[in-house]
Amino acid sequence: MSYSYEAPVSQALFDRASIVTPGGVNSPVRAFKAVGGTPRFMVSGDGPYLTDADGRDYVDLVCSWGPMILGHSRPEVIEAVQAAVARGTSFGTPGEGEVALAEEIVGRVAPVEQVRLVSSGTEATMSAIRLARGFTGRAKIVKFAGCYHGHVDALLAAAGSGVATFGLPDTPGVTGAQAGDTVVLPYNDLAAVRAAFAAHPGEIACVITEASPGNMGVVPPRDGFNAGLKELCAANGALYISDEVMTGFRTSKAGWYGIDGVAPDLMTFGKVMGGGFPAAAFGGRADVMAHLAPAGPVYQAGTLSGNPVATAAGLAQLRLLDDAAYAKVDAVSAEIRGLVSDALGKEGVAHRVQTAGNMFSVFFTADEVRDYDDAKRQEAFRFTGFFHSMLADGVYLPPSAFESWFVSTAHDDRAVERIAAALPAAARAAAEATAPETETGAKA
Ligand code: PLP
Repeated sequence: MSYSYEAPVSQALFDRASIVTPGGVNSPVRAFKAVGGTPRFMVSGDGPYLTDADGRDYVDLVCSWGPMILGHSRPEVIEAVQAAVARGTSFGTPGEGEVALAEEIVGRVAPVEQVRLVSSGTEATMSAIRLARGFTGRAKIVKFAGCYHGHVDALLAAAGSGVATFGLPDTPGVTGAQAGDTVVLPYNDLAAVRAAFAAHPGEIACVITEASPGNMGVVPPRDGFNAGLKELCAANGALYISDEVMTGFRTSKAGWYGIDGVAPDLMTFGKVMGGGFPAAAFGGRADVMAHLAPAGPVYQAGTLSGNPVATAAGLAQLRLLDDAAYAKVDAVSAEIRGLVSDALGKEGVAHRVQTAGNMFSVFFTADEVRDYDDAKRQEAFRFTGFFHSMLADGVYLPPSAFESWFVSTAHDDRAVERIAAALPAAARAAAEATAPETETGAKA
């Protein structure tokens, strides 16, 4: 497929990048593989807008995959970062910023009594699982198909996000031994979890789940699913780990926990809490966290953990995220969802807009999407034309039909009007799309 608009500077940068970097990108989904065309190299961001290397600007509905909940270049965050940088960029010692960020997290999320800072969501989930295994003395872990928890070896079984986009069942480089203790179950299926506990008595260390999945598109938990997981874990001596890397501090002040109130044993965070810098965390019950080095025997460490610039950015962002900020993000999310649905409806395109707080995604199917198999049954080929039409009209969507869309407090009326203006043509492109002959679900 060819597209009628060009991005010569991005193309030249992508050509250069492809020589020195595998696939030309540093994280697979950025490469536009699922939708084709040239990935846009961005040079700046301001409020709800991104500007690319060709000088075109876009309303950003990716928000760096979630972190930029206040929009780009929010002055208070930039000032906090500049002040931190002026004091030095890394000390390799404890610092007050780390304490303040930990206090902010503990203050917001009741089940988190203690927290350890790390640098990425991947590190957070990897460490939480190690801790759960160390605490319980058990080896097996349960995860759900379509949930993505970062590129942790043991968790790259039937994962979502980029893995879903490319339809990889698994990845070469992960050995049978690394993934052999991972039990993968269908999402939203408590009977399957019950059966797994029955099949492996006394062997399961933890169940890890996205608090509300956003990596197979947005597929919220059914009523009672998270509560059921907690109950089954407690009854079987396993820990319930809620991965809030995506939902944490985004869907409410206390993330998804603030919405469903189910208290996990351990939780993981990233994205929003770093204010656009590499900062992430895991935390939970104090008696479990006490097993972590140097308080306890389970080893975990990081040269840049609690980095003073990253913690300053995260703290500045979290302190601006009050009830009014969440109300604003929720409202603009609802407005955009309505516009998308109206436009697709007018063109007769079968679709479902699914939501989790202010996170949402558009599935090209009329049926409810409850798990990864449902998500793969959508007509993902319709997304390609939709995506490129929006891009040509200055709206930057996640370049995959299996990702959440993200909005910010900076998405104002002008930004929403631009989205509204772009939607009719994009909906037409979705309606006119035809299935490729080799269509294989997630690979579209
Ligand atoms: N967990 C969830 C739910 C995520 O969405 C992600 C990333 O998208 C991760 C973990 C991994 O985080 P990171 O990309 O910072 O390693």
